[in-house]
Amino acid sequence: MRKKIVAGNWKMHKNASQTKELLNELLTQIPAETAAQVIVAPTFVNLASAVENLTHSNIAVAAQNLHQAESGAFTGEISADMIKSVGVKNVILGHSERRSIFHETDALIASKVDTALKHDLTVIFCFGEELKDRQSGNHFNIVENQLKDGLFHIQAKDWEKVVLAYEPVWAIGTGETASPDQAQEMHEFIRETVRKAFGSDIAEDLTILYGGSVKPDNAKEIFSKPDVDGGLIGGAALNAKDFITIVTSI
Ligand code: PGA
Repeated sequence: MRKKIVAGNWKMHKNASQTKELLNELLTQIPAETAAQVIVAPTFVNLASAVENLTHSNIAVAAQNLHQAESGAFTGEISADMIKSVGVKNVILGHSERRSIFHETDALIASKVDTALKHDLTVIFCFGEELKDRQSGNHFNIVENQLKDGLFHIQAKDWEKVVLAYEPVWAIGTGETASPDQAQEMHEFIRETVRKAFGSDIAEDLTILYGGSVKPDNAKEIFSKPDVDGGLIGGAALNAKDFITIVTSI
C-alpha cells in the first residue's frame, strides 16, 4: 500500500513564537496513530527549532524551497546541505508561487530536484495548470509537460524519494477547489503518465497529493478518491484544529 501524507505548507506565516505555539498544539492534539504521515513546512528560520520541537513525535519537517547550487555567492539563498544539517528530510519544490512570483522554470526546478535528491532529501514536487489552461482544455498537456520537464530525468531508484503534489493554480488560496472528480481524473492521468515512463511498480507506489483550498469540510471527500493519497494544505494548515481535522479525514 502506498504511503498517505498530509503536509502543511506554512508559506511566509508564523514567526518563531507562533511556530512553537502551533507545533505545541499539533503535538498535544494530533492522535498518536494517524493513517497519514504528517509533515509541516515552516519558514527557513524556524526549521531548526521545529525539528527540535518535533524530535520525539511522528511529525516530519519540510523546507519550502532550496537553492540548486552547493554553496557560493548567492546572497539570501539556502542550500540543501544547510537544510539537511538542521535535521530536515523533505523539501517542497516547484510550488506555483515559486513558479509565478519568483519565475522558476521547469529547467530550474529540475536542477533543484537533482540537488535535493543528491542530498537524500525527499522532494514534494508541486505542479498544476492555471485557470486559462483548464478553460482552454489544455490542462492535461500542461501537467504532463511540467512533470516531464521538471522530474522525468530522474532515475528509477529516485522515485522512492519523490512525492507529487497536484495543485491546480486556480484552486490555491482562492477558496475554490477542484471537485473530487476533477482531482481524481487528473491524479489518475498523472499516475498513468508515470506508469508509461517508469512502469507499474513505481506508479502504484507513488504518493500523489492534492493541493488547493483543502479545508476541514471538503477533505474527506477529496481524500476518498482512489488516486488521491493525501493533501498539501496551505491556509487551513495555519490553524491546529482545522489541520488536525484534515489529517484525520484520511
Ligand atoms: P491553499 O494552499 O490550501 O491555501 O489553497 C495550498 C498550497 O499552496 O500548497
